[in-house]
Amino acid sequence: MDNIPNHLPTAELQALDAAHHLHPFTDGDALKKKGARVITSASGVYLTDSEGNKLLDAMSGLWCVNIGYGRHELADAAQYQMKQLPYYNTFFQTSHLPVISLSKKLSELSPEGFNNVFFASSGSEANDTNIRICRHYWATKGKKTKKTIISRHNSYHGSTMGGASLGGMGYMHSQGGMPIPDIIHIDQPYWYGEGGDSSPEEFGIERAQQLELKILELGEENVAAFIAEPIQGAGGVIVPPETYWPEIQRICDAYEILLIADEVICGFGRTGNLFGSETLNISPDIMTIAKGLSSGYAPIGGSLVSDEIADVINSSGEFSHGYTYSGHPVSCAVALENLRILEDEKIIETASRNTMPNLTKKWSELIHHPLVGDVNILGFMGSIALTPEKASRAKFASPEGTVGLICREHCFSNNLVMRHVGDRMVISPPLIISNEEIDILISRVTKSLDQTLFDIKKLGLYKAS
Ligand SMILES: *Cc1c(COP(=O)(O)O)cnc(C)c1O
Repeated sequence: MDNIPNHLPTAELQALDAAHHLHPFTDGDALKKKGARVITSASGVYLTDSEGNKLLDAMSGLWCVNIGYGRHELADAAQYQMKQLPYYNTFFQTSHLPVISLSKKLSELSPEGFNNVFFASSGSEANDTNIRICRHYWATKGKKTKKTIISRHNSYHGSTMGGASLGGMGYMHSQGGMPIPDIIHIDQPYWYGEGGDSSPEEFGIERAQQLELKILELGEENVAAFIAEPIQGAGGVIVPPETYWPEIQRICDAYEILLIADEVICGFGRTGNLFGSETLNISPDIMTIAKGLSSGYAPIGGSLVSDEIADVINSSGEFSHGYTYSGHPVSCAVALENLRILEDEKIIETASRNTMPNLTKKWSELIHHPLVGDVNILGFMGSIALTPEKASRAKFASPEGTVGLICREHCFSNNLVMRHVGDRMVISPPLIISNEEIDILISRVTKSLDQTLFDIKKLGLYKAS
């Protein structure tokens, strides 16, 4: 295995990385000055870096390693499949064993009325597929003008042109000419940051009703779909007010539009059920899946579609869409093994009964820390908002993310991976994290918050805008 020179000293690895590797979502020059952190192995909830540090990964990689690291059963499944049939495609009336088994398994696991899946290799690709599916669905039904997809500011739906256009990240749109045509954004249900004087309940209804106003403004005959994450992840783990989803559902039922639930993070156990839509009582027409489907061990994503949509697509002649790796045999075999482990070991049930309530309780207590203005948590998706002034929910005077970044760096030094989204800190730990590991997580978070408070006082950053 000498082709991967992981025996080189860290500084040399960092130099090679800086010289030859363009990183996603990274300021390249800043990275060159500092050097990347090089991860060399992992087991359970812990990562090991090239310096031998052992970090508690409270992010499950990028929200995906639901069953934790180091499950050799998945490696064995991949190895077996690579030897048996490493690749074959699913175009032009061909299929293979792992894709047939995984399609059947997903139909069994998903809510009633979902018996078909279109495969991709990522969440972004799956959301691109969703744009194609929902526009083609309406066109096949003779409603060619129903093209516009309504999404939300600060939502995340991926990084391809379609995915990023559906997403509501302005900083992404500004690079590369997005959004593509016929995608429109309404405001997010972020009460803490945008709710002003209204109660969370009032605000939830108000933000949901923006969907209805937008449908009426555009004309129902021009709207194809509404897409949303049950709980926003990359936007900062924003759990919407309880009134939000019932009102969205009412509107989606009242108008002839499709509801796409982007389950890429919420799916496969993160909220305590297999899908976030179950936890939040949402009835979508399409569900985007990826990440936890294979626990990140192999790239795979997909679109679960309702029987009605599948029937219409099947009746439309050839659906001219697909990826070389749609239903890749190795990824399907790995996903199947991941789903088997989730089921056989009752990982979701155990988390939802035992460790999720424990983390919820301890995470919620962080509200007593002087820096914390807000706590959100549902299942194993949690966030805290940092603030210089709790009572007024104030932002810092420093540019958004300055304090969050200081906090994230302290987390790293304390051997904890916790991400910052602006000045919100977010976690999304593996579903197999134990109560002992939750205690370690909380104590490292608390220590990092204390150090952040100390630093920003010293630097004169403990000021409201
Ligand atoms: C990560 C993510 C995506 C994109 O998935 P990729 O596999 O990175 O393309 C889409 N939607 C949501 C909600 C995500 O969190």
